[in-house]
Amino acid sequence: MAKVESFSLNHLKVKAPYVRIAGNEENADGAKIRKFDLRLIQPNQGAIPTAALHSLEHLLAVNIRDYLDGVIDISPMGCRTGFYLICWGQPSVREVRDALVKVLELALDAERVEATDARSCGNYRDHSLFGAKEYARDILKQGISLDPFERIFD
Ligand SMILES: [Zn+2]
Repeated sequence: MAKVESFSLNHLKVKAPYVRIAGNEENADGAKIRKFDLRLIQPNQGAIPTAALHSLEHLLAVNIRDYLDGVIDISPMGCRTGFYLICWGQPSVREVRDALVKVLELALDAERVEATDARSCGNYRDHSLFGAKEYARDILKQGISLDPFERIFD
């Protein structure tokens, strides 16, 4: 059975919100990619409702590349407590945290969510910009730690 990195993380010990490196990969050609755990809600104590999470996903997909190079993908976790981010190269936790903060700050002032029509989205009815803003505000207020187990901001 494959070893899944996130299954070995002790979810009882982490202190969200945080950003951490969840994996580094390198292929035979030397191409490197890095995976990040962007944990926004304390595991097993809450979860972002799907509509708000879906709108945050669209806001992140559209905006995070403006603040971070090499983004391959950003996708919500099934537990709805955060996102996984996959990047080319080896961006630092701080670079990712700062980009995430920028996008959450942008979300607070967003007037609409991009691509919320049946042609561009797989479930366009399930969006909540209101919810996305409420969660973004709450996460920013708590601050996003550079360490999963200790609250470290700089
Ligand atoms: Zn969508």
